[in-house]
Amino acid sequence: EAVIHYFKRDLRVRDNTGLSLASATAQKKGVGVIGVWIMSPRDWEAHLVSPAKCDFELRSLEVLKKELAHLDIPLHIEVVENRKNVPKALVALAEKWGVKDVFCNLEYEIDELRREEKLVKMMLDKGIGFYPQHDDCVVKPGSLHTGSGKQYAVYSPWFRAWLSYVHAHPEVLQERPMPERNPAGFRDGKFKGLFDCPIPTASESKALTTEEKDRFTHLWPAGELAALDRLSHFLTEKIGVYVATRNFPSKNSTGRVSVHHAAGTLAARTSVRMARDVNSTKKLDGGNEGIRGWISEVAWRDFYRHVLVNWPYICMNKPFKYEYTNITWEYSPTNFTAWTTGHTGYPIVDAAMRSLNSTAYMHNRLRMITASFLAKHLLLDWRLGEQYFISHLIDGDFASNSGGWGFSSSTGVDPQPYFRVFNPWLQSEKFDAEGEFIRKWVPELEDVEGAAVHNPYQAGGQAALVARRNGYPEPIVEHKFARERCLARYKAGIGRD
Ligand code: FAD
Repeated sequence: EAVIHYFKRDLRVRDNTGLSLASATAQKKGVGVIGVWIMSPRDWEAHLVSPAKCDFELRSLEVLKKELAHLDIPLHIEVVENRKNVPKALVALAEKWGVKDVFCNLEYEIDELRREEKLVKMMLDKGIGFYPQHDDCVVKPGSLHTGSGKQYAVYSPWFRAWLSYVHAHPEVLQERPMPERNPAGFRDGKFKGLFDCPIPTASESKALTTEEKDRFTHLWPAGELAALDRLSHFLTEKIGVYVATRNFPSKNSTGRVSVHHAAGTLAARTSVRMARDVNSTKKLDGGNEGIRGWISEVAWRDFYRHVLVNWPYICMNKPFKYEYTNITWEYSPTNFTAWTTGHTGYPIVDAAMRSLNSTAYMHNRLRMITASFLAKHLLLDWRLGEQYFISHLIDGDFASNSGGWGFSSSTGVDPQPYFRVFNPWLQSEKFDAEGEFIRKWVPELEDVEGAAVHNPYQAGGQAALVARRNGYPEPIVEHKFARERCLARYKAGIGRD
């Protein structure tokens, strides 16, 4: 007999609620723990998981397998083509191994909750205990309410409530105990074969070329040890000036741990606790502004999960603001391709999109600029952009991506009215003042001097000559026209006078 921990988006041994409880249960019963991970290629297809993210998960599994092996815990990996059959496969494993307790951590999106619901029923039928845990958020969804008992739809008051909750319940930040080593003999007993389970390769549609694999491996080292390394480096070297520098893409000043939060190689709880511990106050408030600011960003991740749990229809391609369903979008495959490939004639947008295509990551400020540009300047349905991001980002995460797109297209959970339309030229001048980021990613403009790099054709002269000579496109849409068209279309769509 043994206890199973079913790994999903929690590819780590440390600070893992479900795994920790699985281990405590196994200890009590004097049995061992078996880790299980199930790859479902069709689930990856259905959820548009990017090849970079699939690869990151597979690389993280290598690390997880080794970390578990230090504790004599095997990692069994199963490939189940169709995601519908995942529950059946897990129940079959439990039965085959004589397991009576299965632990996991909850995922809150609709498909995932349905899978968990199915598992509860199927396990119950077989007399197996199934124990999904809240682990993904620092504060469990459903814990915070407005004065009138509702879910917050605005971040600032929600964040104040989040802070008070964490102060009142310090245990939410407490590190979950490391799993114990499996009993002596487990490794050589009847589960011996499970220790040699190979890590599968990605299906063809998610496969990377060798060059891409090398590039992403270099940029995004996988696994929980790499996550802790990256976080520690950020906390000692950068967090102090985070608030002052976080909006400037060329400064490379943010934590760059979203990829780990998304794969669960790092818990958000671990990030917040470790940031708190480097604060002079040893608290979430007071002390250093950078630390406070960073913690509030990690809290955004919780916020969007809370929103998703309360308004699950956002998982079904619906905007949070339901009245924005009727906006008439433009249909232009040409403009969409210009946006995806970084050929819009707006250098900051193009640099950002090319950085995404090359690194599978985009800086937060640039995500806002490019998303706003797609929805408001090009008036293309924000869902096209949301899907493009999720299918290219290595940190693709449904709740944060959907939240970010909702925010940027004004269809989401954000009190700002739709008439906030980012001016990409001004954003560019403000957040990439020297044009460093643009020149790095748009080589056609490398030789454009000074501020003209932000808008070479309007600057004219040398800038326009260089841009034209190098084949850099003119803006595909004029800013003033785009802004007015957007305001009119949104207004008509939501039926306001
Ligand atoms: P840091 O600035 O160091 O922030 C620390 C952590 O806080 C991040 O690792 C992340 O987990 C969390 N975080 C920071 N900002 C946000 C935010 N606005 N919303 C939610 N969590 C946040 N983030 C994703 O993880 N996956 C996505 O698919 C994703 N899509 C986005 C799409 C759009 C249109 C926008 C505007 C934002 C999106 N974000 C997404 C949020 C944010 O851009 C990234 O989390 C951030 O850029 C990651 O870089 P970092 O780790 O250096 O962040």
